[in-house]
Amino acid sequence: MVRPDNRGTTKVALSFPSPPLGYERLDTAAQKTILSHVFTGAGWEMPRILAAMAGSEDFYLELLGQIRLPRWSSGRVALVGDAGYCASPISGMGTSVALVGAYVLAGELARHDDHRTAFAAYEAVMRPYVTRAQKLPPGAPRGGSPRTRRGIKFQHAVIRLATSPAARRITGPMFSSPASAIELPDYSDLTVTGAG
Ligand SMILES: Cc1cc2nc3c(=O)[nH]c(=O)nc-3n(C[C@H](O)[C@H](O)[C@H](O)COP(=O)(O)OP(=O)(O)OC[C@H]3O[C@@H](n4cnc5c(N)ncnc54)[C@H](O)[C@@H]3O)c2cc1C
Repeated sequence: MVRPDNRGTTKVALSFPSPPLGYERLDTAAQKTILSHVFTGAGWEMPRILAAMAGSEDFYLELLGQIRLPRWSSGRVALVGDAGYCASPISGMGTSVALVGAYVLAGELARHDDHRTAFAAYEAVMRPYVTRAQKLPPGAPRGGSPRTRRGIKFQHAVIRLATSPAARRITGPMFSSPASAIELPDYSDLTVTGAG
């Protein structure tokens, strides 16, 4: 993905499928060498992109993954957002679940005197939403990195279809974000009574 920003620079995101080999723990020079190796010969603007990457100080490489935990609290500690239930950048849902999670956790802590009851209620409200957010679109993540020309053509055709206004009504439910798939509890009746 190549995306210009409003400051005259362009951000590039390169991704490729791989077993978990620990590339994210290597130093930057080694990571750049791996990316050059993977993407050399990919055509289009790739020579310019790789040359710019070699000299770029604004660079990072990370493993794409999800966090799935059987529970989100222990003792007086509760997890929110990526720490508890990272959905991965592929989902496009990370910010939504993090913000909703913070809202629900704060609300349930205000509603219940016992933090254990609050944590259980937080999890009961959030768990179905997070499970839905972590469900990746059909074909993801492998479908996002086709390895043949035919696969690339197919991917482009699917994206064109999914984003065309005419087909949107049919394909919309398949590709739309589940960000609104939660009835937010109303905590507006709760008041802060003091530190506890
Ligand atoms: C490339 C990429 C693209 C993405 N695209 C999307 C998208 O399109 N839509 C979407 O909804 N989400 C997207 N996400 C995911 C989204 O950014 C995260 O899900 C979201 O930021 C999670 O919020 P958070 O508050 O849980 O964690 P973070 O935003 O990671 O915040 C955690 C904070 O804690 C700080 N911290 C860590 N350790 C310590 C410590 N020991 N002491 C003090 N502070 C500490 C960190 O510096 C950081 O500021 C994307 C993520 C990536 C990486």
